[in-house]
Amino acid sequence: MTAVSWWGLALGFTAAFGLVIGSFLNVVVARVPAGIPLTRESRCPECDRPVTPWQNVPIVSWMVLRARCAACGGPISARYPLVEAATALAFLAVVWIVGDRASAVDPAGVVALIAYLYLAAISIALALIDLDTHRLPNAIVLPSYVVIGLLFALACLLGAPGESLLRAALSGAVLFAFYAILRAVRPGGMGGGDVKLAGVLGMALGWVGWGALVVGAFAAFVLGGVFGLALIATRRATRRTAVPFGPWMIAGAWIGISVGPQIAQWYVGALTVG
Ligand SMILES: [Zn+2]
Repeated sequence: MTAVSWWGLALGFTAAFGLVIGSFLNVVVARVPAGIPLTRESRCPECDRPVTPWQNVPIVSWMVLRARCAACGGPISARYPLVEAATALAFLAVVWIVGDRASAVDPAGVVALIAYLYLAAISIALALIDLDTHRLPNAIVLPSYVVIGLLFALACLLGAPGESLLRAALSGAVLFAFYAILRAVRPGGMGGGDVKLAGVLGMALGWVGWGALVVGAFAAFVLGGVFGLALIATRRATRRTAVPFGPWMIAGAWIGISVGPQIAQWYVGALTVG
């Protein structure tokens, strides 16, 4: 096989893997906030009949069933196939962005890539749960310190610079402390979930570099601020409305991970030339 067809195969596998994980994330988003075990079989919310495996194929089943339950005809939300498609696209983007920085044959790069695929999955789940319930469940956020920390440590054992791991740990601590201070200064603005998520995002940004950390942290406030002002301008919110900040922290972090180093370099370059 040529290099091009290997690359095509890898992308096809990534997209299919993303669809399956997206299907699982739909279950996570529906069950984790409600405290329902993930292992319970899927049932139609209308008629409570179990969903058969062929009715559970990502995107395809929803289209074949025309957004209706096969048993009772009750509606199936378009959010399910949209989350599946979004996860597949996110996984492709991660392979494109993070995989591009590491050679495909570099084991350390592959392990780091897995860490960012994991981050992409929890990003989607946490953003949706925060929008739905204004919460960022500990059950997802806290294990992420361990999963991402261990994957970064493994990447170092496989040859990634130890400096990256140190920077990731420091960045996690710095962003956690920054949000903890914001929360202490202005209670009611940030939630405890935001503070805990900040540590996870800080680790993922710090592994990429200091520039990514600064850009990622800053981008969250730019996005959140612009969105908040837009809500107030269109009278959908007042200055007192609680708007979940988690989705903006996550979106900002991904800006930092994908283009943070370039933006930071450009900014420093502009300062030194001017
Ligand atoms: Zn049904």
